[in-house]
Amino acid sequence: MSAPEGSSTHGPLARRLTVLSGPSGVGKSTVVAEIRRSHPEVWLSVSVTTRAPRPGETDGVQYFFVDDAGFDRLVAEGELLEWAEFAGNRYGTPRRPVEERLARGEPVLLEIDLQGARQVRRSMPQARLVFLAPPSWEELVRRLTGRGTEPPDVIERRLEAARVELAAEKEFDVTLVNTSVQDVCDELLALMAVQ
Ligand code: 5GP
Repeated sequence: MSAPEGSSTHGPLARRLTVLSGPSGVGKSTVVAEIRRSHPEVWLSVSVTTRAPRPGETDGVQYFFVDDAGFDRLVAEGELLEWAEFAGNRYGTPRRPVEERLARGEPVLLEIDLQGARQVRRSMPQARLVFLAPPSWEELVRRLTGRGTEPPDVIERRLEAARVELAAEKEFDVTLVNTSVQDVCDELLALMAVQ
């Protein structure tokens, strides 16, 4: 289904699109989980990933978990708005649910990595890109090593990615420092104009 003339998601409608990005371990998913809890009416895009579920993760809630062939098929069929490889796994945003909501003028929040944020910047220049920054580098290392769910080589890859991602802050429209999850949620919801 194509969008009617003048309502392309590349145009003004994309203003309703907010992209939350930032280094792995900075707390993006905690912020998103808190918004889900306190504002269940806010629709959050659910990404597709080839990563294995962590304990407590449910298919269709945090992610849609697919195998490599399933991900290849989504890419080939143009079903992903953006996708990226991150620390050995692939992650992508299903295109259709996002476009449908934007076409209805509803706010949309994507929580994606830096490569994905750059793709959205190119394809939808009017989207608002929000960078979630850690209070300090030491705090980010503590969070990444303290999660206890990943083996050391995975943590090392994520720290490497985090160094690169921190340097990208200037590409974003807004920076929020994650000193308090509640404050970040409030600021993000205000940006999205959700009361
Ligand atoms: P995790 O494995 O910790 O859940 O996520 C790893 C990274 O992938 C995080 O930085 C997260 O923001 C990013 N990510 C999650 N979903 C998507 C997506 O749909 N697209 C892109 N580009 N990155 C994603």
